[in-house]
Amino acid sequence: MKKQEFGAGIWHFATYLDRYATDGYGEPRTVIEAIELAGKVGDLSYVDINYPYFGGEFSNEEIKKSLDKAGLKVIGITPEIYTREFSKGAFTNPDPGVRKRAHELITEACDAVRFFNASYVKLWPGQDGWDYPFQVDHKTIWKNSMDGVGNLATENSDLKFVIEYKPREPRVKMIYDSMTRTLLGIEQIGLPNVGVLLDFGHAIYGGESAADSAQLAIDHGRLFGMDVNDNFRSWDDDLLAGSLHPIELFEFFYVLRKNNWQGVWQLDQFPFREDSVEMANTAIDFLKSVNRALDDLDYDALSKAQASHDAMGALKIAQKALYKHLARD
Ligand code: FE
Ligand code: FE
Repeated sequence: MKKQEFGAGIWHFATYLDRYATDGYGEPRTVIEAIELAGKVGDLSYVDINYPYFGGEFSNEEIKKSLDKAGLKVIGITPEIYTREFSKGAFTNPDPGVRKRAHELITEACDAVRFFNASYVKLWPGQDGWDYPFQVDHKTIWKNSMDGVGNLATENSDLKFVIEYKPREPRVKMIYDSMTRTLLGIEQIGLPNVGVLLDFGHAIYGGESAADSAQLAIDHGRLFGMDVNDNFRSWDDDLLAGSLHPIELFEFFYVLRKNNWQGVWQLDQFPFREDSVEMANTAIDFLKSVNRALDDLDYDALSKAQASHDAMGALKIAQKALYKHLARD
């Protein structure tokens, strides 16, 4: 089995604003500075980069130079289709001109994916949805969201696209809000190069079992990417992976391992008040313990327990493997 690789969204190393600290939780950083910080993480191989590049005007070549220096590769490019211009949506914007602009921006992001030889274009249509009853025609916006993704995937059949679903925020209701709805849309689009990026935190605060959602996506051949973090289950807190729901996170990774899913384990955490390098290192240490616990897990005993839905027996086997390695490593 090949060595597990780790990645992170480059935003993990940026600083943030919210509606309270409107002066930000730190001095703004350029994408180059964020890459330098990411390079300080002990075992990080990949980053997912927002497009356009934040903090200044940078060419692909300049970004590549700083990535090489930091020893990092690009897993995906995330076009920023959720900024002010797209506040009423990207694919589902009522203005066809704005929908066209989203298409153009994502098309540019496709070129960046080719340049960096990355795995996918990541679509996070955070503004696509609605806030109020009667605000939208549900048939129209669902159709527009699928047409928007479908056209891009058709025009760029050499690339993969992933949709990262999320229940809400910034829109009160997001159009791709759950695994089931996202898979339904993807199957309706009907193209081989569109898949899902499963964010553990989005799944659990949406009331899903991330393990079950992963299995569903894998069974449809659509699990193209994943990222992890944690939350209190009522919001996308993007806290340290494993800090609140370690056993559910372990079941999620167990499903990936059982299905021989081989991809990068990515962090999508937001260190508002924490040191970003320390937080990434802490999460990766945790994930390495999870990985060793998976090596150690008694799969036969577990499947035997699951065959009779023996909750106590199955949990005991899982807990034994996970907590032993967390304590030891
Ligand atoms: Fe995410
Ligand atoms: Fe998130």
